[in-house]
Amino acid sequence: MACLFCSIVAGDIPARRIYEDDKAIAFLDINPWKRGHTLVIPRRHVDDLLSADEALTEIAPAVTATARLLTERLGADGMNLLSNAGAVAGQEVFHLHLHLVPRYADDPGMRALFDRDTTIDLDEVQAALSS
Ligand code: 5GP
Ligand code: ZN
Repeated sequence: MACLFCSIVAGDIPARRIYEDDKAIAFLDINPWKRGHTLVIPRRHVDDLLSADEALTEIAPAVTATARLLTERLGADGMNLLSNAGAVAGQEVFHLHLHLVPRYADDPGMRALFDRDTTIDLDEVQAALSS
């Protein structure tokens, strides 16, 4: 069965990539909760966190580097890190991914997290994160 995120890794589907190494890629979520909402995924296919073997360890350096990039370039004051494992947890794309959601002092708290922000300009965010 075709996997959307494997297609992004292969470059068959475009994505706004902001960081990559030999094990992982990071790209902007197409429908962000907050400015800079990013997904970090392993290059190899793993369904989810519950079947992740060593995949979480493999992508950890990219998670740290991406969190640093988002904080430095976007001026984030904090970060939420989240992975939905299984449909019951809200997973919609069944290729392991971690959500990195930058948070800002003027919009604090968990309650402010889950509404998608349709006003975010993804081209502007990608430009701010590119060197
Ligand atoms: P999940 O609910 O599986 O944890 O999250 C899947 C995430 O993937 C959602 O936040 C959704 O906005 C994002 N997403 C779905 N399709 C695409 C796509 O084609 N490109 C990008 N960049 N993100 C996507
Ligand atoms: Zn996949």
